[in-house]
Amino acid sequence: MEHGTRLVILGKQGAGKGTQAERLARQYGVPRISTGDMFRLAVRSGSEAGQQAKEYMDEGNLVPDDVVVALVEERLQKDDASNHGFVLDGFPRNVKQAGALHEMLAPDGVDLVIELDVPTEVVLNRLAGRRTCVGCGTNYGPDALPRDDWQCDICGDKVVVREDDTEAAIARRLALYDQETEPLVAWYLAQDKLAPVDGQGALDTVTARLLRAVESRLGPSGRRSGDVGPRSPTGRPR
Ligand code: AMP
Repeated sequence: MEHGTRLVILGKQGAGKGTQAERLARQYGVPRISTGDMFRLAVRSGSEAGQQAKEYMDEGNLVPDDVVVALVEERLQKDDASNHGFVLDGFPRNVKQAGALHEMLAPDGVDLVIELDVPTEVVLNRLAGRRTCVGCGTNYGPDALPRDDWQCDICGDKVVVREDDTEAAIARRLALYDQETEPLVAWYLAQDKLAPVDGQGALDTVTARLLRAVESRLGPSGRRSGDVGPRSPTGRPR
């Protein structure tokens, strides 16, 4: 069955996932769905769910799977995502979540999973200078400062150090990425849905690589439609 573009972007914190996911989403006219942003919004709203999530987030731990899965399931049912597709950023983060996502999207699952690859030394360097907008989640750094005195260029809200960008929480999140999220690379590779992309270099260079990776696998519409037929070893329809 034909459906919209369903992409997942994997990568360590600081790999540039959020920015690149936003660009991909714009390119394909789909929402970027970031579970981290959804939790930060819940924390700001002061809801009970937000308070519970905050305890995990501040330590750099994963929020329990059932909470995240329910949140994503509800979000994917909204018209924008169910009609057009999505770029998922920050979900799935372990094999259990990936299995739940597969069930939500049965029988096709996601179209393509991009692994944005950046070495740990590089992400640590980037995270040391990272500042984030409290309103829309846009990231800034020493090479990309907001135009106006720590006010977001996009929404005008405050740009600050994220509460969970402490040294301990960063180390914990990187360790969890290796233990929990990295196994997804093999999981999606086995399903022929993985596209590794080098995440180092200028933003535009990385975006161009991402778009090439998506197009070479899914075609210019970025969509794995039901009628493309069998794929060659390069992923192109034969
Ligand atoms: P992020 O903005 O993706 O780095 O997410 C910030 C924090 O939100 C993470 O460190 C987790 O505590 C929580 N979180 C976001 N996505 C997930 C997920 N898929 N599973 C569990 N926890 C998550």
